[in-house]
Amino acid sequence: MGHANRDNVVTTVKGKCRVCFTCVRECPVKAIKIIDGQAEVLSDRCIGCGNCVSVCSQNAKVALNLKDDVENLLNDENKKVVALLAPSFPAEFTEFDDYKTFVGMVRKLGFDKVLEVSFGADLVAREYQKLLGESNVNFINSDCPAIVFYVEHYHPELINNLTPIASPMVAIARVAKHLHGEDIYTVFIGPCIAKKAESDEINEVLTFSELRELFEKNDISPEKIEPSRFDEPESGMGALFPLSRGLLHNVKKSDDIIEGNMIVDAGQNNMREAIKEIENGEIENYNLELLCCKGCIMGPGMSDRNNYYFKWSQISKYVKAKLQDLNVEKWKKNVEKYIEIDLSQTFSKRDRRERLPAESDVEKVLKEMGKVNESDHLNCGACGYETCFDHAVAVLQGYAEEKMCLPFTIEQLHQYIEELNTTNEKLMSTKQELKHSEKLAHMGQLSAGIAHELNNPLGVITMYSNIIMDELDDNDQKKEDAKLIVEQAERCKKIVSGLLNFARKNKLKVQETDIVKLIENSLSSVIIPDNIEVNINSDLENPRMRIDNEQMIQVFTNLEKNAIEAMPGGGKLNICVTGKEDEVEIRVSDTGDGISEENKNKLFTPFFTTKEVGKGTGIGLPLVYGIIKMHNGKITVNSNADANRGPTGTEFIITLPR
Ligand code: ADP
Repeated sequence: MGHANRDNVVTTVKGKCRVCFTCVRECPVKAIKIIDGQAEVLSDRCIGCGNCVSVCSQNAKVALNLKDDVENLLNDENKKVVALLAPSFPAEFTEFDDYKTFVGMVRKLGFDKVLEVSFGADLVAREYQKLLGESNVNFINSDCPAIVFYVEHYHPELINNLTPIASPMVAIARVAKHLHGEDIYTVFIGPCIAKKAESDEINEVLTFSELRELFEKNDISPEKIEPSRFDEPESGMGALFPLSRGLLHNVKKSDDIIEGNMIVDAGQNNMREAIKEIENGEIENYNLELLCCKGCIMGPGMSDRNNYYFKWSQISKYVKAKLQDLNVEKWKKNVEKYIEIDLSQTFSKRDRRERLPAESDVEKVLKEMGKVNESDHLNCGACGYETCFDHAVAVLQGYAEEKMCLPFTIEQLHQYIEELNTTNEKLMSTKQELKHSEKLAHMGQLSAGIAHELNNPLGVITMYSNIIMDELDDNDQKKEDAKLIVEQAERCKKIVSGLLNFARKNKLKVQETDIVKLIENSLSSVIIPDNIEVNINSDLENPRMRIDNEQMIQVFTNLEKNAIEAMPGGGKLNICVTGKEDEVEIRVSDTGDGISEENKNKLFTPFFTTKEVGKGTGIGLPLVYGIIKMHNGKITVNSNADANRGPTGTEFIITLPR
């Protein structure tokens, strides 16, 4: 990423991410990829601004921790280690009334020298003053490393617009080496993560959070500390640098709307906007003081990122006290003393932009996400991308997933819920059918038992009552009685044979049959009164299908008998056969009395009958139901028994798979 040969300044803690996409939204360069339900930082795209670290409530993004390396340096007696303390420290270590205690604590860690980076800022400010005074190009300040990386990687055409001036950190490191020798080791301590990759002129970079960890680990607390001042050279106004407009104050420039030619802004959105406008040539001859964070005092390396204004006030309080205490003559002398120090900086184009995918491909992805018309582009930003178009591009580049689109996911959820409702309904009706089938199965077992026991004695009764009847003289009054016994015994046999049928209906003997002919034949075993008209219609091209003939005949005779019995005053019995590709539908309808609403649900229940005693058994329809189910078919009923609602009648609809 930077020049310090460190690319992985921000990494992901796998498993912690709850995919809220806040990091995607806050990442100025979209260096986040959603992999296996986790938002992962792509180090080869990252500019180290640390926004993702700041915004991740789950702490799933962490900055590279170098405190062990720093400890190793400090423990090596042969190495002279110099701390370079960033000017934002008063905003972090607000618990100290006197900064000297804090400096003493840093010294206690083992640093040989503790220097103020703000003196580097004093030197840099002087360079800025010279440059901004004489130049007539747009300048982008280069003291924020995230801004520098952003330009180098994503707007490389603008690298000549970066102020060719070293950052305060690099400036003070050069001063330190000038003062204490080239072989010293420098450790920058500040609020910034991008600094870890900024420059190979600095050996190590610690955040304030890491510094606190070191204090804790080494049991360094203010009570046991001997307060001390910073090592020379002490700074002046450079201490204001970590505030937005801090640089401006230093170079005594104004961002007055009429007078000034300075634009000062902070935050990833504003800095991107400003740089884009420079690139598009929309602003000319302006100097941009940009910060990626909301000022360094809100940097991701601060242990607490709240209370912006309190932090601001702490800096200003510190600077005020400092300036009162400042030996201005000595400070001026110091600034002059280091005039020889080279404060130049160079930048290189390191383009990391990706080629945009073909528009047609983007449109395809948008369509998949349900964005067909302009009005479907809600650009709600819930996915983390500014526009639906940007999101679709990221999907094609492999960084994002379609399901990150919230409106699309909600729409899909609605569909799933609808499907689930339909499935639930189906499940309910299957449950009911299952219950019914269970009832029938129990009925079957019971029937088999009863039928078996009754069949033989009934045979004997029938045989002997017939013999008695034949032996009696026609004029004998007893002959009539015997005839009654024969008739009732026959009726009992019919019921028993019905029950036996019921018991036997768990096996099918299928054979290829012409269904229409079978229906015609079924009518031959039914007595059709003259006042009833029967019609059979079929549109089947191929009436042949595999069914159990014997059982299916029973289905139709039962339905036909019921229909006829429902039309004592005459009417029409229509049987209509229609064919679909994979099933045949048979409708048996009559113009009879119809079935009342309350009886409709009981039709297929064994022994349910509305017919008078001696006429109905209530076995017919359960038998029909069982046979149809055995054929993997379906039977439903439509009926109207209320003449006020239209013509009365009943229609049984059977569907049989081919
Ligand atoms: P059963 O005919 O012996 O009564 P079913 O099981 O065949 O036994 O029929 C049960 C009941 O369903 C009948 O008693 C009758 O009330 C009603 N039913 C069946 N078919 C019709 C129909 N086509 N029209 C009116 N009611 C019918």
